[in-house]
Amino acid sequence: MRRGSWRIRILIGLAIVAFAFIRRCSNQEENPYTGRTQNINMTAEQEIAIGLQSAPEMAQQHGGLYPDQRMQALVDAVGNKLVQSSVARETPYQYEFHLLADDRTINAFALPGGQIFITYALFSQLNEPQLAGVLGHEIGHVIGRHSAERIAESNFWQTLATGASVGGDMGSVVAGIGQNTLLKNGRGDELESDELGVLFMIQSGYDPNEMITVMEVLKAAAGPDRVPEFQSTHPDPENRIEKIKEAIEKYSGR
Ligand SMILES: [Zn+2]
Repeated sequence: MRRGSWRIRILIGLAIVAFAFIRRCSNQEENPYTGRTQNINMTAEQEIAIGLQSAPEMAQQHGGLYPDQRMQALVDAVGNKLVQSSVARETPYQYEFHLLADDRTINAFALPGGQIFITYALFSQLNEPQLAGVLGHEIGHVIGRHSAERIAESNFWQTLATGASVGGDMGSVVAGIGQNTLLKNGRGDELESDELGVLFMIQSGYDPNEMITVMEVLKAAAGPDRVPEFQSTHPDPENRIEKIKEAIEKYSGR
């Protein structure tokens, strides 16, 4: 009897694993703005809804919005210029640029669907072209659908881990692989966003070499009294600078 139930468990486990792979294949689609094939299991409308829902909480975590409307207006102007001059204009996403009051954490980030944030700590260290570089990079995360891709990937590994743990004791092993895969994708996301950021800078009339200065600002920001949050989620700045130089060469003169 016990051997029989063990076999059933293996079969159910295999069925769940097969389901995960089949769903992954059926979720493959080509991103019309980057040309890259991705695993996505949500629509642009769902991405926008997730972003709008999470935005107030994100702002709250960074001390709310920065009170000076003139500074916010500058962020809006640069962000909108990037959107209007690039393929971002043709996407269904709703872009909103938020200047956060946080003057200690050097950070910028994007939620799916177009909600983009920059802390005052980072903003205050940048000139306008460098601000364009940071916002262009974040628009790149939105257009690259990186959050949606991460969610789909995480669902896939969760289903796989469930199947493996039903079938045997492999659950933790598979879960471990999943986490590594998520981190590796994160690095690729950053490099794709850097490249898109360079392209959007050029299309908006900004000097793309200022993106290299942004990397230097981020590198210098990792001091003792600053939280290097941006760096902890981003690949080594030296590596990024090499790739940014390649992107400048690729897109300049177009
Ligand atoms: Zn990034």
